[in-house]
Amino acid sequence: MFDKILIANRGEIACRVIRSARKMGVKTVAVYSDADKNAMHVKMADEAWHLGPAPAKESYLKAELIIDIAKKSGAKAVHPGYGFLSENTAFAKACEENHIVFIGPPASAIDAMGSKSAAKDIMKKADVPLVPGYHGDHQEADYLKTQAYGIGYPVLIKATAGGGGKGMRIVESHDDFDEALSSCKREALSSFGSDEVLIEKYLTKPRHVEIQVFADSQSNAVHLFERDCSVQRRHQKVIEEAPAPGMTEELRNSMGQVAINAAKAIGYQGAGTVEFLLDEDGSFYFMEMNTRLQVEHPVTEMITGQDLVEWQLRVANGEPLPCSQDELLINGHAFEARVYAEDPDNDFLPSTGRLNHLATPSTHRHVRIDTGIEQNDEVSVHYDPMIAKLIVWDKDRASALARLRGALSEYQVVGLKTNLDFLFQLASHDGFNNADLDTNFIARFQDELFVEKPAINDQVISVAALYTMLKQQDYGNHHTADLADPYSPWDKVDGWRLNEDNFHRVTFVDNNSKLEYLTTVHFRDSAFLVEQENGEHLISGELSENQLRVNLEGERFTATVIEKDHLLSLFIKGHEFQLELKQEGLSADDTDANANLTAPMPGTIISVAVDAGDKVEAGQPILVMEAMKMEHTIKAPADGIVTELFYQTGDLVDEGAELVLFEAE
Ligand code: ADP
Repeated sequence: MFDKILIANRGEIACRVIRSARKMGVKTVAVYSDADKNAMHVKMADEAWHLGPAPAKESYLKAELIIDIAKKSGAKAVHPGYGFLSENTAFAKACEENHIVFIGPPASAIDAMGSKSAAKDIMKKADVPLVPGYHGDHQEADYLKTQAYGIGYPVLIKATAGGGGKGMRIVESHDDFDEALSSCKREALSSFGSDEVLIEKYLTKPRHVEIQVFADSQSNAVHLFERDCSVQRRHQKVIEEAPAPGMTEELRNSMGQVAINAAKAIGYQGAGTVEFLLDEDGSFYFMEMNTRLQVEHPVTEMITGQDLVEWQLRVANGEPLPCSQDELLINGHAFEARVYAEDPDNDFLPSTGRLNHLATPSTHRHVRIDTGIEQNDEVSVHYDPMIAKLIVWDKDRASALARLRGALSEYQVVGLKTNLDFLFQLASHDGFNNADLDTNFIARFQDELFVEKPAINDQVISVAALYTMLKQQDYGNHHTADLADPYSPWDKVDGWRLNEDNFHRVTFVDNNSKLEYLTTVHFRDSAFLVEQENGEHLISGELSENQLRVNLEGERFTATVIEKDHLLSLFIKGHEFQLELKQEGLSADDTDANANLTAPMPGTIISVAVDAGDKVEAGQPILVMEAMKMEHTIKAPADGIVTELFYQTGDLVDEGAELVLFEAE
């Protein structure tokens, strides 16, 4: 086995490869861009070498530099992962020329599958079924249009160099053909540098079913069954599963055999995926072959108990395949959900930013997380916005799906938009439960999948109020503990006032609806009575870090609250809610003209709204201070005059410090 390999990739796939290499006693060399200098893959590898600036062109796509690093570091082989240089013939060749093993197929096999139309030619000769269509050299618009007519509408125009769901146009009728063709060619030219296209029959309700194949240098080839990747958005996979629901043994064997034939037709070695469209009547058609490890390979690993990266390393090292076809068996069912930093409500637009908070479900035999991102990492514009792959396994589809829902509801991300709620919605949908799958699944159930978030209700507000009070008490207790008499009621910040009902006003704002929720929280022994517009609720609990144990009128549950810049992200019963906190400091009575204008806690003055000598009305803001990352507006307790100001913007003040001299009228 190789002593040391270089991983020419980043993120979860680099980490995934490192894990298997380590298990096999193989040392690893990571490479990284400026943006990734503290990334997980860099920390995990035995050594890490710098490539260049963040853009992939200047880092992860620098083939020569990567080969140079492989030589200098003494790596005997390069694992390209997926994306970047994984299907780059020139890179595979360059590795060969430099006597570095490329952990992938021979350059000739990558080349053969690089063009969708050339691949179809080869497959046709190997008797692999193709979708009816035209994939020849003639590229004149009129010629293509005649072909489309012959195939019968709807047709799909595809860029032959396309990939990643780009460069495709569905054409419904003859009249629409010209425009679709020119727009497809434009996109193909700008995205792939070639405007060559092919035309094929557009299947209206197909499933995307792909076969994992593996071949070694001794002409052995096996398949590791199928994956169903029908749930797609913009022709990109969202949730994948293995085995494919409803698959018969007969169909599995015949698709598996065809996939092996396809691999053999191009002298394949290593891991590959043959993608098929499976039509409603059970006919299946070759779509393309991906000559690398697929993103969704974990579901195959979960049902076969094999480590596909280990297989890749062994095959690249010239060893025979670890198993024969007869030794491979399907056990149970697995799903993979791709957790993305993106906004499903805005056409799945990628979202960028820092993961201020990340909590993941615990991993074990049933739940696996493949990721390259930790809390406080940033998802940048430079790379794929995938946060993680959440993989679950169980004995059958229904149990695995229940695991998926459970794990998704425990997944928490704060700091950027994610598709977590959308994934949960998918995993909970009846159509998905019943495996009523096809590649239009998401579009077909649009209305049910893109539901509004659950509305803010009394429960959410009560929990937010409880959190705010406990946080403050915790803070207050820490501070009073330092004082001379920790039991003196005068030093307490729990709202205690002589002869007054102790209460605290807190306002929460839902920034989506712009609705304001005004609460008055009364202190009641070891609980709080939260008064809201619609009624009042008795709530108590304990706060430890950001975990809140709640008892809301007898109902007990846990919640997580993450606070950042006055914004509370509350995770309650699997749903996330956001509320902005507006707090007005402790007060015994708003109309108490003699109340001291003092700092409710130590903090910073962030603005002063009046000048000394100004006449103010009751409730008019005098200054704003910030404490515990919360803003407190100090308001005039009555009509009167601010005769003196003791602090200016930027000043630090102690708890209890007199802020202004105020004379009530
Ligand atoms: P890419 O290389 O960009 O991933 P593919 O050729 O693999 O493109 O197709 C991506 C997806 O587009 C498929 O998974 C399927 O959903 C859809 N698709 C491709 N060809 C057809 C077709 N002939 N009929 C219907 N849908 C298709």
